Amino acid sequence: MMQDIEEVLFTERQIAVIVERIGKEISRDYRGKNLLLVSVLKGSVVFMADLMRSIDIPARIDFMATSSYGSGVKTSGVVKIVKDLDIELEGYDIVIVEDILDSGKTLSYLLDILQSRGPRSIRICTLFDKPERREVDVQATYTGAEIPDAFIVGYGLDYDEKYRNLPFVGILKPSVYETAGAD
Ligand code: 5GP
Ligand code: MG
Ligand code: MG
Repeated sequence: MMQDIEEVLFTERQIAVIVERIGKEISRDYRGKNLLLVSVLKGSVVFMADLMRSIDIPARIDFMATSSYGSGVKTSGVVKIVKDLDIELEGYDIVIVEDILDSGKTLSYLLDILQSRGPRSIRICTLFDKPERREVDVQATYTGAEIPDAFIVGYGLDYDEKYRNLPFVGILKPSVYETAGAD
């Protein structure tokens, strides 16, 4: 897998520092509230697993999955819920946990859907943000790091379902997706 990585952007240790910091922020902001962490599968599972353990107040978790009918490296904007939440949202203070905010289409759609279910509050937490790429106006309250416009993999993030298990985050060599489909 390593030969497909152009450059390591965040080492395991650097990610751990970022996640700890966000965990502290959420613990501080949600003390005495009814925190529900909603992880968007599959990209945010690794982040979610680390983040929830860096939060030191009571928290519930749930998962949902969307599909975006996009090609490997871009979201189409047509988002569909593939797996819905198990929990009713009334009374919860929700933090949506995402891997990366890119065009904003996925999160803008999710925000609308979850908002319509009447939670007490709802905010976004994203590990990475590519502000340059935004097409829809969505902002995260908690952001791990802003990154340049490059396609990254690792720490949960995939290309074609691969590289999720890399413990660090790196830029994928464009040759990997430019030649995809040729085989
Ligand atoms: P958006 O709807 O904001 O355009 O796209 C968000 C989703 O696109 C992310 O949750 C992620 O699945 C995917 N995505 C966007 N940028 C990247 C990237 O650099 N690497 C990977 N692996 N996925 C990305
Ligand atoms: Mg995602
Ligand atoms: Mg993906």
